[in-house]
Formats: sequence, C-alpha cells, structure tokens
Amino acid sequence: MTQEEFFKKIIAHSKEYGFIFQSSEIYDGLSAVYDYAQNGVELKNNIKQYWWKSMVYMHENIVGIDSAIFMHPTTWKASGHVDAFNDPMIDNKDSKKRYRADVLMEEYLVKIEDKIEKEVEKAAKRFGETFDREMYISTNPRVVEYKSKYDSIKERFVTALTNNDLADLKQLIVDCEIACPISGTRNWTDVRQFNLMFSTQMGSLSEEASTIYLRPETAQGIFVNYLNVQKTGRMKIPFGIAQIGKAFRNEIVARQFLFRMKEFEQMEMQFFVRPGEELKWFEYWKAERLKWHHSLGIPKEKYKFYIHDKLAHYANAAVDIEFEFPFGFKEIEGIHSRTDFDLSSHQKFSGKKIQYFDPELNESYVPYVVETSIGVDRTFFSILGYAYNEEKLEDGTERVVLKIPPMLAPVKLAILPLVNKDGLDELGHKVFSDLKYDFNCQYDEKDSIGKRYRRQDAIGTPFCITIDHDTLKDNTVTIRYRDTMTQERINIEKIKDLISDKLSFKTFLK
Ligand code: ATP
Repeated sequence: MTQEEFFKKIIAHSKEYGFIFQSSEIYDGLSAVYDYAQNGVELKNNIKQYWWKSMVYMHENIVGIDSAIFMHPTTWKASGHVDAFNDPMIDNKDSKKRYRADVLMEEYLVKIEDKIEKEVEKAAKRFGETFDREMYISTNPRVVEYKSKYDSIKERFVTALTNNDLADLKQLIVDCEIACPISGTRNWTDVRQFNLMFSTQMGSLSEEASTIYLRPETAQGIFVNYLNVQKTGRMKIPFGIAQIGKAFRNEIVARQFLFRMKEFEQMEMQFFVRPGEELKWFEYWKAERLKWHHSLGIPKEKYKFYIHDKLAHYANAAVDIEFEFPFGFKEIEGIHSRTDFDLSSHQKFSGKKIQYFDPELNESYVPYVVETSIGVDRTFFSILGYAYNEEKLEDGTERVVLKIPPMLAPVKLAILPLVNKDGLDELGHKVFSDLKYDFNCQYDEKDSIGKRYRRQDAIGTPFCITIDHDTLKDNTVTIRYRDTMTQERINIEKIKDLISDKLSFKTFLK
C-alpha cells in the first residue's frame, strides 16, 4: 500500500467508524475544519487526560489553568503576533492554488536528501559489511554533487527567511524549477506575507467595536496569568503552568487532514526558570517529552528530533519532535527556549511589573521560559495512523483492527450477549450497569458474534465479553483480547480487576 493509499484509508475509516467528520459536511464541508465524532471524541479526551496527568499530576511544581480564547488585543501586539505571525505565501497563476513558499522549499530539500539516501542505501547493499557511510558520502562524486547543491540551496533559503527577503525566496523557487503539483507549471506570483490570525469585532456598535483575535496559541493565556498563578499558588521557581485549549490559524492548507487545521487544539506547558538556567531545562524537557511519546507504545524510530536553523524572534533554542506521518516526518511537538521575551514584553506593554523575587539569590528578575507545545490533533492522527492494521487471518478472512493503546481506546469493553433472548440480554444489561462506573462500555446485541467482534476491532475496543447460556449456570463469560484474538473463560466478578490494570494510566506513567 502506498502512503497516499494509506492516507486515504485512514480518512475513510475515520468517517465510517465515527472518529472524524468533515465540518458542516451537509454543506459540502469547510476546508481544513473537522469535527470529532462519537469515538473520536473519546480518544481525543483520553489523549488530553493522559497528557494532563503526566504533566500536572506527575510534577509537584506544575499546575494547570484554562484561560479564555478571547484576550485583550494588546496581548497580541506584545507577543509579536500582530506584526510577525506570518507565513510567506505564493500562488500558482494557472491552478490558482496557494502554497507556503517555505514549505515548497523544504519539500524540495527533502527530495535532495532522499536522493542522497537512495545512493547510500544502494552502495551499502553493494559493499556489504565493509561499507563506510561517512567515507562514501564525502567521496562519491554523485553524492558529493547532491550534497553541495543541498548545502548551497539550504544556506540561501535560511538567509532569505532570516532576512525576510521575499524576492529571493521567489527567485529560489524559480531557480530550483519547482512546479505546482496541480497545474505542473512554474507560473508563480510574487511571495507575500500573510498574517495567520483570525480577527473579529467585539462590542455591539461598530464605532465602539475593537478588533479581537482568536488566539493562535494558548501560551499567551499562561503568560498574562503568570503573576496571578505564581502569587495565589505560592509557586517557587522553577515551576510550570500547563493548559489545554483551542487555537486558530488561517492556514494555507493543502489536504493534510488533522495535521494542519484552521481550528485545532494545543497542550502547552510554560516552565519558568532562572535566567541562565534555561538551556539546562530545555535539555531536560526535550528528553522528558520524547519519553512521553515513547510511552504511547509506538516504535521509537517513528520519532526524531529536528533542530531549528532559523529561530523565532523570541527563542534562543528550539527543537521539534517529528513523527513519521503518511507524508513523511513532520512536527508533532515543539520545545522552545523562549528567553524572557514574552514576560518582558507584557511587562512593557501593560506597565505592570512581572518579576520574581528569588529568595535564594536575594534578587528580582523576569523569569526565563522553556515551553513544550504539542498538538492534540496531530497526536490523535499519529495514534490512529499507527493503530490502523489490516490483517489476514488464518481462516483466510481479513480484519481491520485499530491497535490503540488500551488506556486511550474510545470504548474499553464491549458486552455481547450471544443471543438476545433466554435472559442473556438482561444479564448483559446488568453487567453493563455494574461496569459503567469504571469503564466506557458498549452493549451490542445485533448481528452474529463474529460481525460484532469485527465492529469492535474496527474502533479499537481492547476487550469483548461474551455472555452465553453457560453464563446463566456458572457465572462465567468469555473474554476476548483484541490484539491476539485469544479468548478465555473467566468469572463475571473478575472482569473489573482483570482489565483495570491493563487500562490504568499508572502503568504507562511509571
Ligand atoms: P508548523 O511548522 O507545522 O506550522 P508550528 O511550528 O507553527 O507548526 P507551533 O506554533 O510550534 O507549530 O505549535 C505547536 C504545536 O501545535 C505543533 O507542534 C502542532 O502539533 C500543533 N499545531 C500547530 N499548528 C497546527 C495546525 N494548523 N493544525 C493542527 N495542529 C497544529
């Protein structure tokens, strides 16, 4: 299956099994906006809970808040978003499609990297055990040529971005002969900056109204509450404030499903530290956050770090954790050392002193900040994509199964009476009533047991309980495990204990 086919399958499966719907579908949808359906919302809530517990409950010095989406407009002046939250965009005049100029260039560079990798792989096969990768890369004429092309283009690209030189960015796209994937032509407009913030008016009369922005990140809600939380929580540096919430960006989008949405959700934590200690904490959080991703049970090679060449105006170090999505390795989380930029800027714009008196140093300072910022939707997409498996079974049939980590699965337990008569259905409802306080259960009595198992596999339910005529006699049920499809007979009273352990966050957090 190609990546493109796989991508289409995930989208189709998400719709068919109630994970993700296109927003306003009956009106032909709204581009890059999605709704979470009955199973999707459960998975999403579980991901958020897992993050919240791992950040807030697992650290004595981290607390959470939930700030409003609307904020005083000056917030966005102070943060730099009004002036600088831009993407460079370029339009193809024939297809009328809009692209991010930086993304076109990044993709071009990845293609050169792929070519180098292919040459290296071929040579590695040819030379076998004696192969010296570094030596080959530095001496093979073809690879050397690719590498020097890559380096010179990359240098020009980074310089153009750093200097905000839009004319040279366009010239690079022309020089690299990049064509529009839709029209195939190189008939490009100039590159222009495009502000990503959505704005609206607050106030009933237009003359009184002021421009209000839908927040493009949740972080600023934390910064403007820094003093309140520090004082009321009697927090001592180093400490963190976490938040989960919606963010909005008017993204220039090319079909990327949950990866790039106009309305999405972030899980962010700002960690306030002594000036000069930020890079130590940056390394700490870099390692901690990668560990968190690994705890989800997805193979480690699906993740890698990407160190930024071009730092944002506020940062003195930045790294992305990238995940291998169906369209390649892309950012799932950013870890940024934001210096004292945000708090100092809010101090300046608000006229309020935002400082911390450090009793150990006996001095006051504006704290430095290390931020961890992860997208809920990209995490959801990564888990769903990895969980999706098509399996050929021994009897020749096939099944689609979502191998979602059990603690995150939307439905934990399906209760399936073999037939809906002879009292089996009543007993099934009773088991449901007993266990509903502990787990999200589903009761299903329609169709053959085989079909019901398939339905549960397709939404990732880790455990199915079948109630049959023997249950009436000896109080035992069949429990079936999703991943192995093995079954065993257990007493009804044992269900709760047996599965609780496998569903507990504790095992994963530890
Ligand atoms: P990108 O370079 O992909 O546009 P970014 O660097 O602008 O991402 P950040 O501002 O660092 O992203 O946001 C932190 C996290 O929020 C990202 O790692 C990502 O998981 C998530 N995120 C950002 N933009 C979107 C979006 N449009 N749709 C879904 N998730 C997003």
